[in-house]
Amino acid sequence: KRGLPHVHIILWLKKTGALTADEVDKFISAQLPDPSVDPIGFDAVSAFMIHGPCGEGHPSCACMVNGECSKNYPKEYCEKTTILQNGHVRYARPKNRISTKKNGVAVDNAFVVLHNVDLCVKYQAHINVERVSRDGMEKYLFKYFTKGFDCSKVGLQRKRASGESSTCTKGVNEIQDYLECRCIAPNDAAWRLLQFEIHHTNPSVERLPVHLPLGNSVVYNEDDSLEQVLQNPWNQITKLTAWFEANKTYPEAVCYTYAEFPEHFTWHADGKYWDYRRGTGNVGRLANVGPNQGDSYYLRMLL
Ligand SMILES: [Zn+2]
Repeated sequence: KRGLPHVHIILWLKKTGALTADEVDKFISAQLPDPSVDPIGFDAVSAFMIHGPCGEGHPSCACMVNGECSKNYPKEYCEKTTILQNGHVRYARPKNRISTKKNGVAVDNAFVVLHNVDLCVKYQAHINVERVSRDGMEKYLFKYFTKGFDCSKVGLQRKRASGESSTCTKGVNEIQDYLECRCIAPNDAAWRLLQFEIHHTNPSVERLPVHLPLGNSVVYNEDDSLEQVLQNPWNQITKLTAWFEANKTYPEAVCYTYAEFPEHFTWHADGKYWDYRRGTGNVGRLANVGPNQGDSYYLRMLL
């Protein structure tokens, strides 16, 4: 079971380079607004963005694992937002006199969950906002689609007929009598019955192959002659080789990297060539290449 319906969103800002501490402060806060300056913000953050109370004296809080908060609250105080050397952010959590109450317990900035005050006020809801500091965070967005359904294991027991001895297990298959079930809440069931979309991506993501000369993969039929497959020049054309060709043909092409290319050019699979794009572009993503793959890895870096 995964709690209340919720969404994960990543926003890309039109900006090169990482956010500075001042920019982080513009969007993200880890402190209670001053109630004498922003009472509405203070109320919203108090109502929706306070963790716990957990720690000693609150062992039943959901975050508590082995007597400690699994989310590391209370957090350390910090006067000023700073970008650490590893790229992570230490958000400002000043030790000041501002505090609020959660379930009757007084809490201060050490318990504030990262948020954007305006979003919290506008939607009157818990909205956690953080700066992405790691590559691969976008995988988090798709986590729920790959996790499988909500499941439960259910054990079934046969009702004993009267007179049967209490130790009798005859005719009971213990293995079969455990079922692996799928849990569906009413909102989940309604969503599927009404055939709403479960998953939607826009714009489309176009996968771009990375390979060394003649190192591309080729699809062929089982009974094709391998000799002919290898000699067929058609099989040597890929999105990558065609991209090099497009750079010779179109003067505008040189303005874009391989990854940016699908935003401005369309791949025609039937003729294996790139042409000017009409309409909205795709997002290009280079195929992953591991560092142990030698030259291909560095080729990908260059691309
Ligand atoms: Zn906690």
